Amino acid sequence: MDKICLKGMSGDELQSWCLEVGQSGYRGQQLFEWMYRHGISSFKNMSNVNKSFREYLENNCIIQTLKVEKISPSKADKSTKILFRTIDDKFIETISMIDKDRHTVCISSQVGCALDCGFCATGRMGLKRNLSSGEIVDQLIFVRDNKKNPITNVVFMGMGEPFHNYNNVISAADIFHSPRGFNLGATRITISTVGILPQIQQFISEKQRYKLAISLNAANDVSRTLIMPVNKKWSITELIKAGKKYSNMKKREVMFEYVLLKGINDSADDAHQLAHLLQGIPCKLNIIPYNETEGSYQRPDEITISQFSEILYDLRDKYRVFVRCSKGRDINAGCGQLAGRQA
Ligand code: SF4
Repeated sequence: MDKICLKGMSGDELQSWCLEVGQSGYRGQQLFEWMYRHGISSFKNMSNVNKSFREYLENNCIIQTLKVEKISPSKADKSTKILFRTIDDKFIETISMIDKDRHTVCISSQVGCALDCGFCATGRMGLKRNLSSGEIVDQLIFVRDNKKNPITNVVFMGMGEPFHNYNNVISAADIFHSPRGFNLGATRITISTVGILPQIQQFISEKQRYKLAISLNAANDVSRTLIMPVNKKWSITELIKAGKKYSNMKKREVMFEYVLLKGINDSADDAHQLAHLLQGIPCKLNIIPYNETEGSYQRPDEITISQFSEILYDLRDKYRVFVRCSKGRDINAGCGQLAGRQA
């Protein structure tokens, strides 16, 4: 008989499961806190759970979904890449980035990705499968319990498209946010999408508390379709409209990300078009100079990066502009570089 994986279940789900197996509902609360607040990796450590139930759990349930395969600390900054192996021998990566008192963890939501964005190493893997909510949560448990710096932010910007795994991503975010789990503020959890419009609309209509980031990466449909095939389905105009709706409804800035690629989307004309698109939208624009991988795209030179960002800065209306240099480029941990490599 296959063992049941408890990791990733919500408090309500654990409570119902405990009742189903003849235990009191409050055991569900205990399991929740042991797994998420205390991060235990063995049922034996549940000191307030009676021996016979602990034995039942040992024999019938799984509590740990990932094994650490490799830890790669950056020599250039305080970031670390962790390569995990799943129970079915798939590989995923998680990045811990420490900058002064900020500790951001970049989480993966899928093994590989179906979307094939031209500049992304994960996209070249194709989609292997979605991660379970337990596998998403285990990434954060490992980082929390193995780094001195408390986690301040979580970003769903690792391997995979989070909105192609919507339910598991939201379940994991709820556990991160729960005061009995990781107790992270909702605005410290950001979910980034390349623009899966139906799920953006679902996210907005469900009034999800978490921050939304949209990976735009081009200022017109011709360039965007060239680098992101998903644009054939949902255009820039639709994404901007959805971003605006999120900002207006939540009274919160939506984040737009723009990976800057040499000769593709980095001209002065692109910058002007982008400024025009963002006029009047309360948003944050993160310009991310490309981190080169095995593909054919290149990072623009520093002069081009600064000219591009200065145009946007000069024309800004309600948006704010930041140029983000990815951490961990020396360990292939920068934006677009994750590929679950074992060596
Ligand atoms: S950028 Fe994101 S959505 Fe696009 S291929 Fe990479 S992981 Fe998938």
